[in-house]
Amino acid sequence: MTTTDLGDGIWRIVAPLPFAAPKTVNCYVFESDDGLTMLDCGVDNAAGLAAVWSGLEAIGGSLSTLIGSHLHVDHIAAARTIIETTGARWVMHETTTDDIALYNDWSLRAAALAEAAGAHGASTEFTTSLLDDWERPDWYGTAIAPTDPIADGDHIRLGPNRHLEVVYTPGHQRNHICLVDSLTGLLFSGDHVLPRISPFVPYTGPEHDHLGDYLHSIDRIVDLDATLTHPAHGVEIERGSERAHQITLHHRRRLDDMLDHLTTGPQSAWQVMESTFRPNLSFLQQRLAIQETLAHLEHLRRKGKVRLIGSPAAWQYERTGR
Ligand SMILES: [Zn+2]
Repeated sequence: MTTTDLGDGIWRIVAPLPFAAPKTVNCYVFESDDGLTMLDCGVDNAAGLAAVWSGLEAIGGSLSTLIGSHLHVDHIAAARTIIETTGARWVMHETTTDDIALYNDWSLRAAALAEAAGAHGASTEFTTSLLDDWERPDWYGTAIAPTDPIADGDHIRLGPNRHLEVVYTPGHQRNHICLVDSLTGLLFSGDHVLPRISPFVPYTGPEHDHLGDYLHSIDRIVDLDATLTHPAHGVEIERGSERAHQITLHHRRRLDDMLDHLTTGPQSAWQVMESTFRPNLSFLQQRLAIQETLAHLEHLRRKGKVRLIGSPAAWQYERTGR
């Protein structure tokens, strides 16, 4: 059974994903006075859509509102198909609109990442593979801008006495939101707080401190004192704020580790990655690990703990002694 009644007019539909991990995404459905409201919808393929349609049919009622937690394929790829079929309004954070082009055209992202990785010590073989290995599967769908953009603190109405409160939580993705149900106090955490893994934090250039944003957003969840929390992947988390605190500690340890690796002298981000992550990473894992490493090093740079030396063709990070 892919659809579970969680009580209080909330259901969970588990939709399959075409990945080794995570294998599924949780789509949460809320009863509202003008139909059903759904948070996240999975990828745009037959298996994913079948799970969503059969789940909605089992719950009963028509979909009036679709919400995307953030602009990642496993959460919103099927949105366009679902909106065109149901006529539902499309709700995402207001910053989403600026990222639609990047989502729909992978070559933009590949070129930016290849340039950054090359400047930070990656081999030509790696950067060439980045540019070549970028075929975009159909199930990515085509992202569309939200019809109803929302911001931190907004209320998504479910009825006269009930709403979902928007908590803006950038970091894993700059348009990520969490939701709090005003009736039950349940937290719906998307990918921001997950049960077993710590969410990936990207690198998109030195002008962004995504890890700083992420740690700030995680502190907001710690401050919520959230108990039962429903993530986008895996099982529910009994104490959401406690889990958020654990994730903070993980990143603080990683920041300390990286500073330790730099004690022996300046290193490229690629060298720091190799000493921080386990050996023999696959190409995909390297692609994620170099971004995580750069996100951490750039955060340390903002904090004044490291500085960039060298040239735009071969950057190295050096401790400042602070
Ligand atoms: Zn996800």
